[in-house]
Amino acid sequence: MLTDKDLRELSEFSAPQPVLSLYLNTDPSEGNADAYRLRLRNLLKNIDLPDDLLAVERYFNLEYDWTGRGVAIFSCAPQGFFRAYPLALPVRNMVYKGNRPSVRILRDLMDSYGHYGVALVDKQGARLFIFHMGELFEQDGFLGDEVRRTKHGGASAMPGARSGAAGRVGKKVEEVVERNMKDTAAYAVDFFSNHHARRLLIGGTEENVNAFRQMLPKAWQSLVLATFPMSVTASHGELIEKVLEIGDMADGRREKNLVRDLLTTASSSGSRAVVGLEPTLQAVNDSRVETVVLTDGFRHPAYQCAQCARLTVLPSQVCKYCGGKYHELPEVRDVLITEVIRAGGDVEVVAADPAFDDSGNIGAYLRY
Ligand SMILES: [Zn+2]
Repeated sequence: MLTDKDLRELSEFSAPQPVLSLYLNTDPSEGNADAYRLRLRNLLKNIDLPDDLLAVERYFNLEYDWTGRGVAIFSCAPQGFFRAYPLALPVRNMVYKGNRPSVRILRDLMDSYGHYGVALVDKQGARLFIFHMGELFEQDGFLGDEVRRTKHGGASAMPGARSGAAGRVGKKVEEVVERNMKDTAAYAVDFFSNHHARRLLIGGTEENVNAFRQMLPKAWQSLVLATFPMSVTASHGELIEKVLEIGDMADGRREKNLVRDLLTTASSSGSRAVVGLEPTLQAVNDSRVETVVLTDGFRHPAYQCAQCARLTVLPSQVCKYCGGKYHELPEVRDVLITEVIRAGGDVEVVAADPAFDDSGNIGAYLRY
């Protein structure tokens, strides 16, 4: 399972030779192993790094078990560097060649799906879980005193009773529930902090969820990302489905915010960003791109100077910079991405977003 340490190690690796970064979607909803292998071959067909290709092939033939939903591979054969991370999350198919691993996709996944602490609570205790990158990482539980239920209705029916035997039972039940909630919250906070949870999900009845939440210290309350109705006896399957659903929403929000921020930054003065294909290509030509942002499925033809390799969608007769001739690229995306990575920039592919349509579904944050 991918950890922060792995991510740090990848981010710090660089080499004088090219580093191959490969992301392959192996989600069962998109076909079987044969279909992935075909996709893999297509992704790698223009990569001229035979030793790295061999290492990748060896990995898929001998080690990968094709059970996950995605895989990320980083290889720099001359340095003896090879890392592969099977993922429980789908990824966009992508191949990069640069002088360092391209970890943007992994970092984004970590941002949206990493370090979830989950509590399923009832009046007696809680089942506690750590989910990371779409997988169950750790689990524990806390069980307080038994809450005695009366003949008519559950414990929650009792508060408000004032006198007589029912009143005494009611008070007792309330006290037990409150103590259980308090002890459960304290136990949960220990568990979550030991396992570095960075956001919390709480499942249960609305009443129990709220009571539990109140018992958490303020700093932990602020980490509650979502609450939902769920039985304390829910299966792992139900739970993981919920965690992924919430992760998907977080990921969608992250992408939408990124696009909105890009558009705002590009429209403000002293621009640190551009939108539209031609301004983006010019920034790529000048090696100014810090991060290029484009929609999944972005396709566009363009022209490239045969001599100085500058890209444009508005070619003059000959290149203004070197007098070279332009040739047409039926598809600029891969050339553009390769160029950005080569110059040390980053690539962010986002889901289609109507707000991005008017800007041609492409833009870039600039270095200066
Ligand atoms: Zn030129």
